[in-house]
Amino acid sequence: MDLTAESHAVPLCDGMSMPVIGLGTYADPRTTPKDTAYNAVKVAIETGYRHIDGALVYFNEHEVGQAIRDKIADGTVKREDIFYCGKLWNTFHPPELVRPALERTLRTLQLEYVDLYIIELPTAFKPGDNFYPKDENGKHIYHDTDLCATWEVECHPYYTQPKLLDFCRQKEIVIVGYSPLGTSRDASWVNLTCPPLLEDELLVSLAKKYKKTPAQIALRFNVQRGVVVIPKSFSLSRIKENFQIFDFCISEEDMKAVEGLNKNIRFVELLMWADHPEYPFHDDY
Ligand code: NDP
Repeated sequence: MDLTAESHAVPLCDGMSMPVIGLGTYADPRTTPKDTAYNAVKVAIETGYRHIDGALVYFNEHEVGQAIRDKIADGTVKREDIFYCGKLWNTFHPPELVRPALERTLRTLQLEYVDLYIIELPTAFKPGDNFYPKDENGKHIYHDTDLCATWEVECHPYYTQPKLLDFCRQKEIVIVGYSPLGTSRDASWVNLTCPPLLEDELLVSLAKKYKKTPAQIALRFNVQRGVVVIPKSFSLSRIKENFQIFDFCISEEDMKAVEGLNKNIRFVELLMWADHPEYPFHDDY
């Protein structure tokens, strides 16, 4: 697969395609000014990103949509050049709430369609205005749902998912790997017993060898084995850095060495919801 900055979409089995790198847009809404997401998405599109990963529950979908619309309005891209992934939040799992939730995302984005709409997590919460409902004892209120789970997969050199990758290849399913740089290491939801990915000795030494950064090695590793990556950055220079992965190739030997880093440890464990009947990470994959 010849991937370039201009042409880097992977085919999907329904005849559509998905750009192999997307901009992740989650940042803690309590501490991140809204215009950061707006500026990040604009710079990402100017840099060449054509895939944006967003969600209603990131509380910045309006700014993300506005940036996309502004780049369409100024002629940088057309709507059909952009692949937008939106997500159904836990409080909207009952079938009758799915369409209204999607419509709410479309209204927030002010776009006519999204290219992909996924179930964010299989763990349904009690429907209502509160996105994180709790009872008087502070316990999360779950919701019973018959869920045929659709699932995004954490994927990076410390969690390489060989079994799942194999299964998906056989079924012609493309994997989107979230947290491809090892997350922002926010203690409120990240498993910090797993060491910082980008400080890994091998990734640092390969970065020197290929005259790249550890982040570029981690991203190129996944892209080169057909896994779509959605690194989040709201730093304008790192948004550009993360896109510069189409001008080099990791040798077969070095790919194997990076695969050997697998620790089978998730950064995103979401243990606070581990007692939910649909908690997904008790299973092998
Ligand atoms: P990432 O692995 O993308 O890491 C993001 C962190 O790395 C940020 O702190 C960012 O800081 C930093 N960073 C970005 N680029 C570089 C670089 N070149 N060098 C060093 N540090 C860098 O973590 P996320 O967990 O945010 O995952 C990415 C996206 O995946 C999310 O934003 C979201 O869109 C999606 N996601 C979806 C999930 C789901 O649906 N279940 C779950 C988790 C994530 P800075 O911004 O300052 O550059």
